[in-house]
Amino acid sequence: MPPFTYMAWPVRVLFGSGTVAELPQEIRRLGRQRALVLSTPQQQAAALRLVEQLGTLAAGHYAGATMHTPVAVTEDALALVSRIDADCIVSLGGGSTVGLGKALALRTDLPQIVIPTTYAGSEATSILGQTVDGRKTTLRDPKVLPEVILYDVDLTLTLPGPLTAVSGMNAIAHAVEALYAFDGNPVVSLLAEEGIRALARALPRLATTPHDREARSDALYGAWLCGSVLNAASMGLHHKLCHTLGGALDLPHAETHTVILPHAARFNAGAAPEAMARIARALGTADAAQGLLDLAIALGAPSSLAALGVREADLDRLAAFAAAVPYPNPRPISEPSIRALLGDAHRGAPLRPLADRNPARA
Ligand code: NAD
Repeated sequence: MPPFTYMAWPVRVLFGSGTVAELPQEIRRLGRQRALVLSTPQQQAAALRLVEQLGTLAAGHYAGATMHTPVAVTEDALALVSRIDADCIVSLGGGSTVGLGKALALRTDLPQIVIPTTYAGSEATSILGQTVDGRKTTLRDPKVLPEVILYDVDLTLTLPGPLTAVSGMNAIAHAVEALYAFDGNPVVSLLAEEGIRALARALPRLATTPHDREARSDALYGAWLCGSVLNAASMGLHHKLCHTLGGALDLPHAETHTVILPHAARFNAGAAPEAMARIARALGTADAAQGLLDLAIALGAPSSLAALGVREADLDRLAAFAAAVPYPNPRPISEPSIRALLGDAHRGAPLRPLADRNPARA
């Protein structure tokens, strides 16, 4: 066994069906009594039901959460936190709402209870991405790690089919990069492989029967594992590209991950054979990158950046952005190689043969 470092983070996790009923008790457990409930405009009705359930434990509600955590929205919500004298944050929703809660926690140190309704995994991380003037930057700070995660499978039953597919692929992307992270370890690898396995089992079932509770439960469990490894290991090329694209063009987050992932996995394949073997085993395929592409296609997910509205004319600029700051990745990165990858992803081209992605040809 090679030497490794593993950091365990203190998070209380409740997982099950109907778990949201525990929310008042969890707020009291934290010694709090004035919760601010956060949501997107689309999930306002669900958040208002929570407010009603909380009664006097709810101090207010903010339904302005939006993708990529724009700082202007955070400042707006921050003004409400002080106006209503909130003493804790309850985030109900996907990564956008969780991101807003984390941005508030960073600035106020208020405790967070998070009720995730997608598979993004943000609830399990001390990572926060924020966007100012089209530039998304990411920080890690223990202050933004939620204190409590309430996983309630029932609340994921309403996640629309197309979003279920891409959100699941987004979760798998965390596990893929954790498996080849320079700071990975045996515990991370176990969680990552099992996370991919649980999602690969659940997502095809959800594509045909979105209300299948057992599959929803598997998918949410897989999402937690994948979120946990996102927190425990450093992400590489794939996440860097998705953040660059998302911040610069305001692209839908999970869809972008879905399109880029097979190309990024194929890019790194020659330099990360053990990770690829684990990914392939979890997917039940012979070739990890092709297995990821086949899964996305089977789920009916978008398969090109062009389908997400990206113009080919933007690719040079994006490749330059993504290559500007160095970061760890199994295969060395260069601007031309990133540009080639983006070109493939833009066209939705078939994956290149493995030989073409030799690390020596970076
Ligand atoms: P999202 O939170 O933007 O949700 C997409 C849409 O689906 C929203 O309108 C939302 O209200 C709706 N929705 C969510 N759950 C629903 C449900 N169960 N039923 C009906 N509608 C539902 O999308 P996302 O992909 O979960 O999050 C993307 C954001 O999360 C990005 O900004 C990304 O950067 C961030 N993120 C951060 C981390 C991290 O660790 N910091 C990890 C992953 C994602």
